[in-house]
Amino acid sequence: MELKDIKSLTLYELENEISELGERGYRAKQIYRWLNLGIKTFDEMTDISKSFREKLKQNYMIANADIERKLVSNIDGTIKYLFKLYDGEYVEAVLMKYNHGYSICISTQVGCKMGCKFCATGKSGFSRNLLPSEMLAQIQTAQIDNDIRISNIVLMGMGEPLDNYDNVMKFLLLVSSPDGMNIGMRHISLSTCGIVDKIYALADEKMQLTLSISLHATNDKKRNEIMPINQKWNMESLIKACRYYSNKTRRRISFEYTMINGVNDSEEDAKELSRVLKGIISHVNLIPMNNIENGQYNRSSKKRIENFTKVLEKNGVNATVRRTLGADINASCGQLKRRAQQGR
Ligand code: SAH
Ligand code: SF4
Repeated sequence: MELKDIKSLTLYELENEISELGERGYRAKQIYRWLNLGIKTFDEMTDISKSFREKLKQNYMIANADIERKLVSNIDGTIKYLFKLYDGEYVEAVLMKYNHGYSICISTQVGCKMGCKFCATGKSGFSRNLLPSEMLAQIQTAQIDNDIRISNIVLMGMGEPLDNYDNVMKFLLLVSSPDGMNIGMRHISLSTCGIVDKIYALADEKMQLTLSISLHATNDKKRNEIMPINQKWNMESLIKACRYYSNKTRRRISFEYTMINGVNDSEEDAKELSRVLKGIISHVNLIPMNNIENGQYNRSSKKRIENFTKVLEKNGVNATVRRTLGADINASCGQLKRRAQQGR
């Protein structure tokens, strides 16, 4: 019999299952508390009898994220983790310290199907979706490793969250639950390359999370070239979905714009971006591109980024250049995994 993924259950679901196993429902609360603390084996549940722990082992597995590699930045203490999953797959997460607390950027898939040209994850292909429990486990392992409580989550690591929609929704439900890790939706951001039908679905869930759209280009010609998803859902359909999203949720949308030298960083691009975003309550994050190994693109110069920002400001667009944390441990999304696979 295949073991069930216990950490992806809500407390209510767990209570039902526990009573089906012939145990008292209140035991579920005890188990749930342990699972949310991030324990890795049933034997660590010290207030559960040995015989019941054995029963749990026969029916369930705990999906963990074990530290395989860890890089700590000497500049700002940012930590990049490479986690090993139950089946030997790897994903990355990055823990950052801000004035207001700790924030973690977690992965939602092993690899990604979207194939963006500037992205290391996109280049390494797709293996599988992460389980809700494996998204929780990344946060829990980082909390235990540093003896901290994490207050903010960004779904901006490896993978496309809206391509793993059901598991990501379950994760959001679990992580924000007062019975669980209790991290409020207003402390969570979700970043997507623009899977339009799922943006509508997300809008209808009316969650208070922050939606980030990875835009990176201002017209279909350029966006088609660097982001294949644009051939399925073009800019017009994406921007329309964004308007729907902000009308439904009344939340400001974040637009991510990776600055790629000579590709999307001219004055004309900045003007076009201002026109595209007209009338949307938005904020633009300009991200100096992280150069990737064997990549065909490079980061824009400081001068071009400054100039681009000025043109946006002149046109009334709210924009900031993203502070690069952990510059010395670089490895943009996906690079650590590629190195580990190549034995370096
Ligand atoms: N798949 C989702 C979330 C993960 S990617 C998405 O695309 O939004 C997280 C962010 O990193 C995206 O904005 C993505 O465009 C950006 N990114 C990917 N590769 C990058 C690189 N080499 N330099 C800078 N940003 C990059
Ligand atoms: Fe996937 Fe996001 Fe990378 Fe594109 S940028 S390949 S959507 S992880």
